[in-house]
Amino acid sequence: MMNKSEKIFVAGHRGLVGSALIRRLEREGFHNLPKRDRSQLDLADERAVQSFFGQERPAVVIFAAAKVGGIKANNDFPVEFLLDNLRIQNNIIHSAHGAGVRKLLFLGSSCIYPKFAPQPIPESALLSGPLESTNEAYAIAKIAGIKLCQAYAREYGANFISAMPTNLYGPNDNFDLETSHVLAALLRKAHEAKTSGAREIVVWGSGKPRREFLHVDDLASACLFLLEKYDSPEIINVGCGEDISIRELAELICDVVGFTGELAWDGTKPDGTPRKLLDITKLRNLGWQPTIPLRDGIAQTYDWFFKNVAH
Ligand code: GDP
Repeated sequence: MMNKSEKIFVAGHRGLVGSALIRRLEREGFHNLPKRDRSQLDLADERAVQSFFGQERPAVVIFAAAKVGGIKANNDFPVEFLLDNLRIQNNIIHSAHGAGVRKLLFLGSSCIYPKFAPQPIPESALLSGPLESTNEAYAIAKIAGIKLCQAYAREYGANFISAMPTNLYGPNDNFDLETSHVLAALLRKAHEAKTSGAREIVVWGSGKPRREFLHVDDLASACLFLLEKYDSPEIINVGCGEDISIRELAELICDVVGFTGELAWDGTKPDGTPRKLLDITKLRNLGWQPTIPLRDGIAQTYDWFFKNVAH
């Protein structure tokens, strides 16, 4: 068992994933959680990151800091997605090693896998084919992060592990329609249409792509599980094991929100990868499973959105 007073640095503690990790760690009684927001520590600044690690000397690092975004943001800003993510992860992983961090959990993404990977996608699909072009820059950065962790493990025996979460959602998600992921965007669109009495909401693409959605509280639980039980540099998938089409997701969200109008399809927007369902056999066999059904998770996230963003 991890010691509750061990110093754990959650990089990116204000984001969707980082804030869920902090909630979970605090609930479990961990109380030595140094926090720095962007104005106090720029993770892209090598010297600042190095001196932070030198001073704080965390025992454990959870890497939840990244420049992230939905399909449009990724497609429009490949330079920022590649460069910012490389900088942040190089700084943190390198400094963590220098400061003697005993365990680091790097979080990647299911978009690291080839566009036409077998479904559900096993960990072995990594680097077995070309990537989906809309998020290639982000994927390349994340693959470099995985490889850097594996390099520290091989060369220095570091216990740096990497988990690949599927598409995530939950409180503190980004609800900006230009840069968000699909679930947050559709929650907002359905809510605003209901409130304004609009007849329809616009959904991007064809509605045919399939995605898997995991509530971020389930991811946080998986991360703690992996910190306790997983010590291999080989990547491990984190998902819920089920996917749905974007059309089904839109219908489910409208139902939860109580919007009874129509769906209109914007075919000028990209579909992205046709399907992205992770094979979670490896994690299941270790004894972890998700607990939040999609409908409940969406209802809880809508409640959070209603109280924190809409008002
Ligand atoms: P992806 O999983 O990397 O493709 O990222 P997204 O969550 O941004 O998009 C998932 C799918 O939802 C894509 O096929 C999008 O075209 C589709 N989609 C439908 N409506 C929206 C929307 O309003 N915003 C976003 N971001 N995606 C949408």
